[in-house]
Amino acid sequence: MAVIGFIGLGNMGGPMAANLVKAGHQVVGYDLVPAAIEAAKAAGVTIGESPAAIAAAAEVVITMLPGGRHVLGVYGDIAPVARPGTLLIDCSTIDVDSARKAHAQAVEHGAASLDAPVSGGVGGAAAGTLTFMAGGETDAFERARPILEAMGKKIVHCGGAGAGQAAKICNNMILGISMIGVCEAFVLAEKLGLSHQALFDVSSTSSGQCWSLTSYCPVPGPVPTSPANRDYQPGFAAALMLKDLKLAQEAAQSAGAPTPLGAAAAQLYALMNAQGEGSTDFSGIIRMLRGEG
Ligand code: NAD
Repeated sequence: MAVIGFIGLGNMGGPMAANLVKAGHQVVGYDLVPAAIEAAKAAGVTIGESPAAIAAAAEVVITMLPGGRHVLGVYGDIAPVARPGTLLIDCSTIDVDSARKAHAQAVEHGAASLDAPVSGGVGGAAAGTLTFMAGGETDAFERARPILEAMGKKIVHCGGAGAGQAAKICNNMILGISMIGVCEAFVLAEKLGLSHQALFDVSSTSSGQCWSLTSYCPVPGPVPTSPANRDYQPGFAAALMLKDLKLAQEAAQSAGAPTPLGAAAAQLYALMNAQGEGSTDFSGIIRMLRGEG
């Protein structure tokens, strides 16, 4: 079992660190927020003095932070002091360019590096059923695999540095676009006098079939577990969907890829957030499309 540093013990990082403790690892954590530190302590995480002090003593350091600037800031502290061969795994969702810079910082100081963002949300983090999409060298991936397996059920090596982040934002761009498409179809069906169940029964077994419809249906009834059945409590908050769609747009601009529907989806989720619905589940965008206040 390894000595694992864990920087960022928030909604996702807290339960992920707790699962590493349950798997028998010695986890030394750090966060800026006292409540996160207390919750982690209660789960068996030892609290370190600083990210640098943790990195100097750990075999593996995992980061789970809000954005690219936080990750690059922490990497600036930990990469220079990590022992040669220390494995740095960033599980945050960040822009591809920052992920590649973080890899370069790690490699420059003799550390191994992986970007490994997750899908599965807070529920998946608590249950240890996250999907990890990893980018980096094969050796680093193989070292990380047993550690990631303590926190997730599906671990995919997507390619070199930044490939995990690329997979994450491409997937979530599909999700944002497809959710809006499904919502628009339900709103049109309502205007045409077609019942929700009738549209679901047809489209879930026809060419309109997709995850946003069959697993996460944005109207109450057809899929009892979807957030629509609990007044759109997340789930996956619209603010996080907007974050990921913006990252996809940044990447598309940087790479010169045409993404007109991704851009439209980002604009619609920006509007939903501007209306004060950032903490509503992202499937709640159907209410905005109906013109409900
Ligand atoms: P969060 O805000 O709950 O947690 C982030 C934590 O990082 C906070 O506790 C904060 O205090 C800490 N932090 C910030 N700067 C720090 C620093 N310099 N040193 C130490 N700690 C620092 O966010 P979250 O929901 O846990 O999300 C974390 C990452 O996971 C984000 O990149 C998010 O996009 C991604 N993600 C979230 C979800 C979700 O459903 N919440 C799902 C998939 C991916």
